[in-house]
Amino acid sequence: MRGGLEDTICAIATPTGEGGVGIVRLSGSEALSVAGRIARLRSRKPLSSLSTHTVHLAEVFLPFEEVSAPEVRSRDRLDEALLVYMRAPRSFTGEDVVEIQSHGGPVVLGLICEACIAAGARMAEPGEFTKRAFLNGRLDLSQAEAVLDTIQAKSKAALLAAQRQLRGELSHEVEAARSVLLMAMAQVEAGIDFVEEDMTFLSREELLGVLTKAWEIVHRLEATRLEGKIVRDGAKVVILGRPNVGKSSLMNRLLKENRSIVTDVPGTTRDVIEETVELSGVVVRLVDTAGIRETSDVVEQEGVKRTNAARESADLILVVVDGSDPLTSEDREVLRLAKTEKSLVLVNKCDLPSKLGEGWCELGERVICVSAKSGEGLDSVREAIRRQLVSAGGDAHNAVVVTSVRHGAALRRAAEALKHSIESAKEGFPCEVITVDLREAADALGEITGSISSDDVLERIFSSFCIGK
Ligand code: GDP
Repeated sequence: MRGGLEDTICAIATPTGEGGVGIVRLSGSEALSVAGRIARLRSRKPLSSLSTHTVHLAEVFLPFEEVSAPEVRSRDRLDEALLVYMRAPRSFTGEDVVEIQSHGGPVVLGLICEACIAAGARMAEPGEFTKRAFLNGRLDLSQAEAVLDTIQAKSKAALLAAQRQLRGELSHEVEAARSVLLMAMAQVEAGIDFVEEDMTFLSREELLGVLTKAWEIVHRLEATRLEGKIVRDGAKVVILGRPNVGKSSLMNRLLKENRSIVTDVPGTTRDVIEETVELSGVVVRLVDTAGIRETSDVVEQEGVKRTNAARESADLILVVVDGSDPLTSEDREVLRLAKTEKSLVLVNKCDLPSKLGEGWCELGERVICVSAKSGEGLDSVREAIRRQLVSAGGDAHNAVVVTSVRHGAALRRAAEALKHSIESAKEGFPCEVITVDLREAADALGEITGSISSDDVLERIFSSFCIGK
């Protein structure tokens, strides 16, 4: 970042466009005096007399001249606003913060921001408010990232996961593993230093126990990556089945009954239709492969190719069969697929008498009877989809899931280093060798919370925020 921490910064904190209310945020040691140069309280009290965490009605002007006549000020009034004052360190950034809540138009907010700059503030850089919160110790790095995840959450599950992270749940587990490692490292290093005096600080068994404990924590977190990705970005669910079993009807029913989400996913192609919905709190990209066999050979081949591509990248497959019709060889072919992949089998048209007979499918609890026509069984379908995709993360009260690619990579590095150190300890390698891996693992974990961080990493993380966050 170009500007220093000592500057007082300002930015429009609300989205661009028109709104009932818009907020300009000021942060830094001069926040109150900058606000004092552009705002006059209705109570006529000086801003310097304000108590922290209070709200005041004010008029906002172009910056006051050193000596200016009251009538000039009135002419230059930009808006009426509420001023919220939060004194350091009890604010989001840990600095003095003033929020100016005016009407939410681009011109009024832009001019208030310009007035703040003319009065001595500097325009904030992307993510600078959150970066200051991190640098001032209000948030650790994974919590700072959770601020952005909260703002960008695409589903309830994503929001709940971001909030768990913002509350520090991930940091807590990561720091627990890291402190165990740092302690072990200190003891191993002390053992190296005192080797001539024949003192042992940690036996091999004890060391192995500690390393295994740390590995278990790291491994458990790392194992949630796939689920974390689904919680955060959503999952791809592909609907397969022969023509006329009711794939499109089921898809339409799910789309109609659930909030469809507008996305940038291309809509309809010739053979594969994609729509995004929120099912039981999780964002799901539903892919209907209908219409594949109903076209000419060349197009059919293309369709099959696309279906295969969709299937291969699917997080879950819904195999649909028609319960009112005996199984065909084509149905059996698709059902064979269901056995090997993560899937659910939907027996559609359960409003009609079943013609499937006994023992047609061995997938037991993964089989659900539904009717796209009557809507029967759709709740079970939604719930089963959620259960298949997110065992823990979709549930507000459950364990931490790792939703960030950066955290996932750091955990993988830590897990590998720990595995290596465990092998070295088992094989009786010298302590010096083990501490190299321990250091690597502890550093990787430290990068998640930001106990270890470089300017490059910070720059990369905070530049993905926009100005005002
Ligand atoms: P697709 O080719 O697999 O996409 O199948 P469609 O969704 O086009 O449905 C084929 C036919 O089955 C249509 O005439 C639907 O109205 C009918 N259908 C779909 N679902 C049901 C159902 O649950 N019950 C009944 N009785 N008919 C259904």
